[in-house]
Amino acid sequence: MIEFDLIDFSSPGDIKTVQDRLLTDLIGHVSGTSQYYKNIFRQNHLTPDDIKGVDDLHKIPFTTRDDLQRYNWDFLSAPRHAVREIVSTTGTTGEPQFIAMTGSDIDRLAYNEQRSFTYAGANPGDLFHIAVTGDNLFIAGAAYYRGLIRLGAAVARVGPQNTIRQFDLIKKLQPFGIVAVPSFMLHMARAARELKINPRDLGLQKAVLIGESIRDASLRSNPLGELVEEAFGEICYSTYGITEGQVSFCECVQKNGLHSHPDLVIAEVVDEEGKPLGDGETGELVLTTLQIEGMPLIRYKTGDITFKTTNTCKCGRNSLRIGPIIGRKQQRLKIKGVTLYPKTIENAILGIKDVVNYQIEAVTGENQSDRVILRVGSLRTEAELRPELTEHLRAKARVTPELVIESPEAVNERLTEGGSRKAVTFKDRRSTEAANERLQG
Ligand SMILES: [Zn+2]
Repeated sequence: MIEFDLIDFSSPGDIKTVQDRLLTDLIGHVSGTSQYYKNIFRQNHLTPDDIKGVDDLHKIPFTTRDDLQRYNWDFLSAPRHAVREIVSTTGTTGEPQFIAMTGSDIDRLAYNEQRSFTYAGANPGDLFHIAVTGDNLFIAGAAYYRGLIRLGAAVARVGPQNTIRQFDLIKKLQPFGIVAVPSFMLHMARAARELKINPRDLGLQKAVLIGESIRDASLRSNPLGELVEEAFGEICYSTYGITEGQVSFCECVQKNGLHSHPDLVIAEVVDEEGKPLGDGETGELVLTTLQIEGMPLIRYKTGDITFKTTNTCKCGRNSLRIGPIIGRKQQRLKIKGVTLYPKTIENAILGIKDVVNYQIEAVTGENQSDRVILRVGSLRTEAELRPELTEHLRAKARVTPELVIESPEAVNERLTEGGSRKAVTFKDRRSTEAANERLQG
């Protein structure tokens, strides 16, 4: 792996020159080693010579999640004995996919995270409390751990322990920063209140937050971000990581979108027909990984909806930035002509007092349109809660799904229906037919 120091501060032209070179390296690599891409090149009458740089990327068809799942090990571009670690996607949508990493890929992952932490203002010597899991084939926990050590910072590998243990370790070790999932930070804030602890007194100066978005499309804090910052102060940095790409995007201190690492990934945002979109236009994020040995991906459709920005950031970096992830493509809802994602509804009701739990259910309604039912578990009466909920949804999500107010126990039963280990807050019962139509636009 080659480290292109300060590449983000280079001119857009220089960044492109580096990406052109790394892309041709990638094409040369996969065309000789990846069974999957060998087939794709043959079927599309492409030779490595046809791809001279980023401008030729469009000649190569997209790789989908489905492709990666179906031909998983055909993507392997290194000998089996060179594999050092196997990670997997969470499988929240469909079966998990395995990603095999070589020693060089593990170093690349650490380099990616080392750089991301410096964007958030971390320095050698800083101690970080890692509250996300480091096992179960989960890539992010390992990435943070290795990245911080590569930076010369220190780590306390705490993982998802109970809040008492988290507070105890934070008080004793006095970390500079924390790495966590936003909703876990919110959970900690609530627990702190019960324990009469002011979260701000914990002395945390940086919170690097993964897994969920804390910004809205205008890059301001969304309700989840607001609640976390209300409790802990404005110490939050949003990041977006993707297992398949072995890469993350992160905010800099300007908090003006999530920076990409141009020597590790080429990012595109495309519309329903696969046409590349311009700055600020919302579509699906597509990634081409650079400098990966084990399982490189070309034009991988992530299923995540966002937009890109290519202008110079206030921090002086010229690396492409993406907005927050607005939702998952497959989960897109259409209510009375308004397109939105379950996350928008979740965020709208997040701050409402006495909402204990909830589940959003989508079914296929008349004329193949979506019917969305929001079940809220609360001890408050229907007459008290309904007007507040309706108003919040209209203001923050611009829609009013069908509202059902039930007991928290009844909602809880739905959340764990079928023995699911993870609470299913979005239940998609829409017909396959309608789903196919939806995905084709
Ligand atoms: Zn920046």
